[in-house]
Amino acid sequence: MQSQERKIQAPQANLETKAFWDAAAEGKLMIGKCSACGQVHYYPRAICPHCLGDKTELQQASGNGTIYTYSVMRRAPVPYAIAYVTLQEGISMMTNIVDCDLDKIKIGQAVRLVFKPSDGGPPVPMFTPI
Ligand SMILES: [Zn+2]
Repeated sequence: MQSQERKIQAPQANLETKAFWDAAAEGKLMIGKCSACGQVHYYPRAICPHCLGDKTELQQASGNGTIYTYSVMRRAPVPYAIAYVTLQEGISMMTNIVDCDLDKIKIGQAVRLVFKPSDGGPPVPMFTPI
């Protein structure tokens, strides 16, 4: 079953996520990096989830990752695959697997970043098998 384009709801940007979505509009996936403890996190936050410090900054992710787990939503009007992708940087993010045969998605599969337009908002980071 080849995936089809579906309407993607526009993400709601707030003060904390505005820089993230501004970067997304330029085709960049940003993750959070803490300069106090050196760890990365996703989604980017003002307060580091590891050490609770406030010395966080945005870092551009490579866009390469692997599928940690996934589920195909077959009852949706347009079926789609929701997944956790582990980024090369070592953190996982919830996302969609797109532009592929939904029946051939596999755990552990290598994927790369693609941005998909949302309905009236910034593009949303998703992944496609390499
Ligand atoms: Zn930290």
